[in-house]
Amino acid sequence: MAAAQGVAYMDGRYMPLAEATIPILDRGFMRSDITYDALHVWKGRVFRLADHITRFRASMAGLRMSLPQTDAELGEILIECVRRTGYRDAFIMVMCSRGVQPPGTRDPRLCRNRLYAYAQPFLYIANEEQRREGLRMILSKTQRIPPEALDQRIKNFHWLDLTMSLFEAYDRDATATILPLADGTVTEGPGFNVFILKNGVLATPDRGMFEGITRRTVTEIAADLQIRCELRPVRAEELTEADEIFTATTAGGITPVTWYEGKPLGDGRPGPVTQRILDLYWKRHEDDALNTAIEY
Ligand code: PLP
Repeated sequence: MAAAQGVAYMDGRYMPLAEATIPILDRGFMRSDITYDALHVWKGRVFRLADHITRFRASMAGLRMSLPQTDAELGEILIECVRRTGYRDAFIMVMCSRGVQPPGTRDPRLCRNRLYAYAQPFLYIANEEQRREGLRMILSKTQRIPPEALDQRIKNFHWLDLTMSLFEAYDRDATATILPLADGTVTEGPGFNVFILKNGVLATPDRGMFEGITRRTVTEIAADLQIRCELRPVRAEELTEADEIFTATTAGGITPVTWYEGKPLGDGRPGPVTQRILDLYWKRHEDDALNTAIEY
């Protein structure tokens, strides 16, 4: 099944992505009562498959959901979606929704949790020019939903804060945003974690954001490079003073930020440390220990 836009799995069946539809009464749709994980395939290999499945399970447990499939079965479903597309570079989504509410009740415990998955062509959060020249980032006026309200370590579709912040960015001739908390620390942007570099030391927020696998990979690369990398509260002012800023996500890896709140960062070109980490990030995709080969 070489589908033009991708292949999906639901209710025990594989189908062209365009044919995969969610029942309107699924609480995943009605209430954002759903969790998910996003993975990628590079040159025919899934990057950090086991880590993604472990994290997906933790998200499900956090929302008191479960699926009958074992980790191995889940992995095989994702790989089969990719295999059926034939793509060597792909983006994979795996979702678990609360499921359809039985008639006459609002009790979420009575729903049968549903698995959805799909593979589509590889996806970048930034276009080619943005990847080359760097993102233009603003500090959003919209705050991130605080961790006291929603544990952001559980991957979720409560995206309206992230989405509305993007409108703010576009209104201000920018291409990316970072969202603060009420205490003046920053969290993350729409679909990515953020790192800053100041005086040779990296820092990334440790509260109110999703714990990205790309973020984890960056911390491992930093350790190899003997660059100190601090996971700690990062104040909004620190971004103004940073030497380099970059974003980190499965949807495209590392992207430099070259402009922040109306001013170029440094000489306005992607920074050398960002570039080094970006190169090593893709080098990690050749490491057999981190990549699962797909037999097409
Ligand atoms: N933060 C949010 C809100 C995300 O949606 C994502 C992306 O998937 C990330 C951070 C980065 O996580 P990862 O590196 O695992 O893709």
